[in-house]
Amino acid sequence: MQYKKLTKDDISYFKDICSPERVYTGDQINEDFTHDEMVEYGKYIPDAVVEAADTDEVSAIMKYAYEHNIPVTPRGSGTGLCGGCVPIYGGIVLSLIKMNRILEFDEENLTVTIEPGVLLMDLIKEVSARGMLYPPDPGEKSATLGGNVMTNAGGMRAVKYGVTRDYVMALKVVLSNGEVVRLGGNTTKNSSGYSLKDLMIGSEGTLGVVTEIMLKLIPEPRAVISLLVPFHSLEECIDAVPGIIRSKSVPTAIEFMQKEVIEAAEEYLGKKFPDKSSDAYLLLTFDGASREEVERIYEDVADICLKAGAVDVFISDTEERQESIWGARGVFLEAIKSSTTSIDECDVVVPRNKVAEYVRYVNALEKQYGIRIRTFGHAGDGNLHVYLCKDDLEEGVWKNKCSSIMENLYDKAIALNGQVSGEHGIGHAKIPYLEESIGNTPISLMQGIKQLFDPKLILNPGKVIGIYRKSCSSHFREI
Ligand SMILES: Cc1cc2nc3c(=O)[nH]c(=O)nc-3n(C[C@H](O)[C@H](O)[C@H](O)COP(=O)(O)OP(=O)(O)OC[C@H]3O[C@@H](n4cnc5c(N)ncnc54)[C@H](O)[C@@H]3O)c2cc1C
Repeated sequence: MQYKKLTKDDISYFKDICSPERVYTGDQINEDFTHDEMVEYGKYIPDAVVEAADTDEVSAIMKYAYEHNIPVTPRGSGTGLCGGCVPIYGGIVLSLIKMNRILEFDEENLTVTIEPGVLLMDLIKEVSARGMLYPPDPGEKSATLGGNVMTNAGGMRAVKYGVTRDYVMALKVVLSNGEVVRLGGNTTKNSSGYSLKDLMIGSEGTLGVVTEIMLKLIPEPRAVISLLVPFHSLEECIDAVPGIIRSKSVPTAIEFMQKEVIEAAEEYLGKKFPDKSSDAYLLLTFDGASREEVERIYEDVADICLKAGAVDVFISDTEERQESIWGARGVFLEAIKSSTTSIDECDVVVPRNKVAEYVRYVNALEKQYGIRIRTFGHAGDGNLHVYLCKDDLEEGVWKNKCSSIMENLYDKAIALNGQVSGEHGIGHAKIPYLEESIGNTPISLMQGIKQLFDPKLILNPGKVIGIYRKSCSSHFREI
């Protein structure tokens, strides 16, 4: 059976369930809802955008969509980088952005319960005001927590604290047929059957719609210090990282960056970076209960860097100085984007001791293909962001080079025992690479799970493992 194209009656029903001013059709649909941050992966117009206000509304929408075979694409802030929240088979874009209340702080159990549309930047502020920290630190602070959970977002502090999944204790989820379930709980341990909560995390809106999230918090570290470490070359810089990891000193973050990307960030922000006399930099952060404790750790790491060839070690211990460095780090993607006509990106993760080899490989591809490639990323957890820049290449040449370089990049990551995506997810743009890298049996298992949760294939069809109703191919409408 085909997916249904929405009729006037369907729209009236959604206007009754929600309120008319939260249902958008035709020209009322903002162009933003047709794509995510990677416009390059296509624009797709939904039949309607519906902004839900609570779990009951989401449940009623899903029940109706299930009965009428209407595709539903959940959406947070649309900051994703793999086309995850775009409605490639039309239907409804279900925006969770209006469900943005912080519901409860439980300071005895150190948890916070929120709706999925809470923005990361708002959560950070509220949590910090109570002397606590939500450790995951994805770069894009305007993303929603629902989006973070559904992509299992990583971020700068993953080296020490892990990723979003490590902080999700419980979820309220609306299933494809409208049924509401609670997964997980506020206990610190749980060995009670399969962890459906962990299956839901990172499922990119293909298994359910998250409407409530309980997150684990930790006490806020009293001291935070960053080191900016210049090196003569990117290779020297990356080669220093295994020594830091071997020393067991556990920085909160280890990022690497090249001079060209820093220059692009300066131009983008209109602000000067503290130093750009060297070709490459490591940016490290340390946190702890006291300044003395942090100093002890970072002095060891500073020595390791100097022995590995660092030109100097700059200590950044005031909020202002940290902001000038981390502020630049936070806009690398936008800065690269604004420096060129179009980009393609890859977000592979490799074992940490293979980062240097991978970066060398990327540099060789840049020379071989004569295309500008910018790389930065989380050297401490092996997650690299590689951006191919179109500049003034003719469209056909760009497409050919891109597809060939991407295949090389993913093949190399797999050869090094890496994974297709470290933190951005699969969406619809990375499906072929996932299929190739994990093989048939894991893909079949994932397809089985999808069919169990979503037998009518209405939830975010065509994403992650790519399944959708075969009979509706004509609905594909890229603009
Ligand atoms: C400048 C920049 C920096 C970034 N840095 C990082 C980084 O450091 N680490 C990182 O991991 N990512 C990063 N990202 C990617 C992006 O911010 C994350 O993927 C983020 O988690 C997406 O959140 P969102 O609210 O924008 O979700 P969207 O893009 O709207 O959606 C993402 C996916 O989640 C699903 N979804 C959203 N909400 C729900 C819900 N309530 N229920 C069910 N499914 C839902 C969507 O269907 C989609 O599949 C960055 C992006 C940009 C532009």
